[in-house]
Amino acid sequence: MGFLSLHTNTFKNGIHPPENKDDTKGLPIRQFPFATELIIPMTQHIGAPAEITVREGQEVSRGQVIAKAAGYVSVPIHSPISGIVEKIGLVPTISGSKAQGVTIKAFPSSGQEVAEGYCVDYKTASADEILHAIQDAGIVGLGGAAFPTHVKLKVPEGKVCDVLIINGIECEPYLTTDHRVMLEQGEDIYMGIRYLMKVTGAKEVIIGIEGNKQDAADLLNKIKPTDIPVSVKVVPVKYPQGSEKMLITAVLGKEVPSGGLPIDVNIVTVNIATTAEIGRLLPHGRGIQERVITITGPAVKKKGNYLIPIGTPLRFVLDHVGIVDDDIAEIYMGGPMMGPAVADLDISITKGTSGILVFGSKDVVHTDKIYPCIKCGACVDACPISLNPSKLGILAKFESYDLMVSDFNLMDCFECGSCSYVCPSHIPLVQYFRLSKSRYKRKQSLNQH
Ligand code: SF4
Ligand code: SF4
Repeated sequence: MGFLSLHTNTFKNGIHPPENKDDTKGLPIRQFPFATELIIPMTQHIGAPAEITVREGQEVSRGQVIAKAAGYVSVPIHSPISGIVEKIGLVPTISGSKAQGVTIKAFPSSGQEVAEGYCVDYKTASADEILHAIQDAGIVGLGGAAFPTHVKLKVPEGKVCDVLIINGIECEPYLTTDHRVMLEQGEDIYMGIRYLMKVTGAKEVIIGIEGNKQDAADLLNKIKPTDIPVSVKVVPVKYPQGSEKMLITAVLGKEVPSGGLPIDVNIVTVNIATTAEIGRLLPHGRGIQERVITITGPAVKKKGNYLIPIGTPLRFVLDHVGIVDDDIAEIYMGGPMMGPAVADLDISITKGTSGILVFGSKDVVHTDKIYPCIKCGACVDACPISLNPSKLGILAKFESYDLMVSDFNLMDCFECGSCSYVCPSHIPLVQYFRLSKSRYKRKQSLNQH
């Protein structure tokens, strides 16, 4: 980099919440036991729910497709266990609503081996064949968004991908799954990168990692293949650097335009755990049946990083890891900044679950009282995309959704929660914005009909 460059390896604003990663970052990934019954919702990804292809009473084997993709923005679901389909019907989900789901009762003495499928070789397969294979494997963004990966990877007609950025930032406090995946699945990551390069046509690959995971950066540097143009870039620790637009600015100093996508600046970004899954599954023609999840928080006894079958009931997970004094005050699925709070213990693990955080009553300080805005500007200083959360918060109270969108770029807000985190008046700004966006969208769709 030239000495006149103003690129500072980070993005503007952002916050530094306490990391709380020490409890689990040194703990290797362990296989979680199989529950006797797995509950698998069909709404595990953004897009059309998968269509169930099995019937009650049918025997299924681990890795078998039990639901097919219901369109382009959809992926199939594979059985995480060998067993018998006990029930098909509505099951609870993290969103609070119910969805169609399949309940499978495990064969008690099954070894739970997964059969090999049709291998797709990155050397001989075309970009389209790899895209299909990624969809067939049921792969979605494992960072939490659960957007079907094949859709994200499809470079639109007339656009070019120059740089592929692999997102190993993991800036949410408490989560260490990506950190462990980098330390333990380096070969899978590089294999995944080979597939991703073929699909996107990228000429350069950068793995972005925050400075609190220097050991992972060192290891990935050490085992780096010499025949692919890949580099590892370590950036300063800051939240929400894991958001793709922030990451692009941190790594390359480029800004994605408002309302635009990374491909508008010739970049595609992929989460590192998703990359490792592509490298782990495609050479064997397998689909996702399990994922790595950090289970932590002050109320958890056996904290750790676990490889957990999709569909494992949350109650089974909590029983296995143990809860201090049987005292649960709050549970989050994902990190504390963006992960939704759990309202129903009958939900199960899905492809989008990156973490489970459990707090006991003595760990939670309730700040229910909301004070008026004192115009301190802390939220404006925190917002990584230079929105005005204070103004947006006032407009949300008056339900001025159109104005929030037209004049204050509400739709650019990616709900990172930095503004709520710093607000001394405890104004739940991000909740206001989530609600405002959904009401605005509902109004728009009603106007169109
Ligand atoms: S939640 Fe939205 S408005 Fe608040 S800091 Fe994040 S991007 Fe900005
Ligand atoms: S941080 Fe809270 S109190 Fe300060 S300006 Fe923003 S909304 Fe108002």
